[in-house]
Amino acid sequence: MSPPPAGRPPDEIPVECADCRAALAAGGRESTAFLLADHLTLPIVGCDRHREELRAACAFATTETAELFEHRPAGGIRCPACRLAGTGSQPVVSVADGGVAVIACPTHRSELLDRYRAGLETRRQLAAPSAPF
Ligand SMILES: [Zn+2]
Ligand SMILES: [Zn+2]
Repeated sequence: MSPPPAGRPPDEIPVECADCRAALAAGGRESTAFLLADHLTLPIVGCDRHREELRAACAFATTETAELFEHRPAGGIRCPACRLAGTGSQPVVSVADGGVAVIACPTHRSELLDRYRAGLETRRQLAAPSAPF
């Protein structure tokens, strides 16, 4: 008996980045990094470029820094529900032209996504020409 393939290609959203698709399909440790954002420590799966893109956007919305680790950081994942979320297929978040899976319980995944979206918005506003006073 062979185990079911880990991380089947997502069918919710198109992922244009071939590296992300490969990472999601492989779903191995090599393509998993740990994103630290405030109190959250969540494994994310994607290519280097889009994991970094997710981190960079979150950094605009975190009170502390958002950091990316290749290995499980000291302290690990604090939420038991997140720890159990490692099995099964995970929704893939659209990050620029790539797709990154956030391996977490629904609560913490949405907390991270809130930061990501808020970070994108903040970055967009910073990039826009400042209005004259
Ligand atoms: Zn990618
Ligand atoms: Zn959790």
